[in-house]
Amino acid sequence: MEQTFAIIKPDAVADNQIGGILAMTEAAGFKIRAMRMAHLTRKQAEGFYAVHKDRPFFGELVEFMSEGPCVLLCLEREDAVAKWREVMGATNPANAAEGTIRKTFAKSMGRNCAHGSDSKENAAIELAYFFAGNSLQ
Ligand code: ADP
Ligand code: MG
Repeated sequence: MEQTFAIIKPDAVADNQIGGILAMTEAAGFKIRAMRMAHLTRKQAEGFYAVHKDRPFFGELVEFMSEGPCVLLCLEREDAVAKWREVMGATNPANAAEGTIRKTFAKSMGRNCAHGSDSKENAAIELAYFFAGNSLQ
């Protein structure tokens, strides 16, 4: 069974959308294998999104991801990485398909309510970044 890493981002936590997003997650066949709330430091957000450090939106992204608590998740199902990207929807909610999490909850390209790993390799790296030593992995 495959695992992926997901975040319910600070915008969605602030807007009381944790339950709605988790309900859609479970309805899509994911098992929640690990979950915790965290208020990321700027350093943690910078490290997590280091791949984007030269992009013009990097500062805004780090600011946003550390503005309040988020929910960190290890999700499991068959084809979890690709399936979670599908259930989450496009990065820009304006382009996300009807019924996706981002279409339902996100407000903008930057404040887009959820994260999902983009490959199995990155899922393993991202899970290790936040759930190192967790026995559920
Ligand atoms: P995804 O989260 O869909 O994998 P990316 O990896 O390209 O998307 O970008 C990481 C995050 O950076 C996005 O989820 C979003 O929060 C933010 N972001 C991406 N592009 C922009 C942009 N053009 N303007 C503002 N924020 C952005
Ligand atoms: Mg990405």
